[in-house]
Amino acid sequence: MPLATRVPRLLALVCLSVGVGACMSVPQGPTPGRPLFDGDAAMALVRDQVGFGPRVPGTAGHARQLAWMLDRLDSLGASPVVDTFTHVSAAGDSLTLFNVSARFRPEATRRILILAHWDTRPTSDEADDSVGRATPVPGANDGASGTAVLLQLAAMLRDVPPPMGVELLLVDGEDYGPEVDDMFLGAKRYASRLGDTNRPVYGLLLDMVGDADPSFPVEEISAQAAELVVRKVWQAAERLGYRQYFPNTVGLRVFDDHVPLIEAGLPTANLVDFEYGPYNAYWHTPQDTPENVSATTLGMVGEVVAELIYSGG
Ligand SMILES: [Zn+2]
Repeated sequence: MPLATRVPRLLALVCLSVGVGACMSVPQGPTPGRPLFDGDAAMALVRDQVGFGPRVPGTAGHARQLAWMLDRLDSLGASPVVDTFTHVSAAGDSLTLFNVSARFRPEATRRILILAHWDTRPTSDEADDSVGRATPVPGANDGASGTAVLLQLAAMLRDVPPPMGVELLLVDGEDYGPEVDDMFLGAKRYASRLGDTNRPVYGLLLDMVGDADPSFPVEEISAQAAELVVRKVWQAAERLGYRQYFPNTVGLRVFDDHVPLIEAGLPTANLVDFEYGPYNAYWHTPQDTPENVSATTLGMVGEVVAELIYSGG
């Protein structure tokens, strides 16, 4: 996950936007009958991914993870589709990249898009010393967390069909960098291929969703460009009693994979916790390891997305 500027301010977005009903202090609980999300299972998927090594385009770890994702989706009967494309970076690196998607209830006329990036950053730019900075990011939170939630959701969507279509999208090349022209590559690719018809109605991006001390204020670009999606997601969190972790405040402005989709006319919200460790100390460092990711947080995020889906999207 990439670039952020800090413009914190309060905004009673959910309450003001939808009236007092959303501000009730007693959570209403999950949609009756919906499946529950297994945070421990998602945590195991984080460990699996980190075990492949850094998932930098062109490396063995990247290839191992691609094969693993496809195997996993295949074994669920999810018929994954791979979009292979190339990109030449500012430094002249020629990259072969892979977006992986899977649709559930593909016959439904209305569908939502849920996405995360699966690649990891080639270097730990934010590390304290030069040795650390030359090390690839392990990507337990920045890459594996969102991917793990999506893959665990895939198992859930296989077992219990959603009330509308759901498209899961694992995008590549989000974090290659360091230039911004060499980031968000998979999202830009997906956005470039969005037709005028048969589009998702909106998107939800998950990025860095595993910190042990979670906080998900509303990301600023999402608040401006995807207010309806924000309302749905933060209302779902409210119903589940997660208000303290999903405050109705607008936090950082984070440039991420949702931006190319918004620019292509697809309102997309970014669910991102950009305070990874104390003072964001683990972001883009060798400390982005499974020890610093929490099954409880993954479970909470998975529950919020499951609530969004099974309450009707
Ligand atoms: Zn990153």
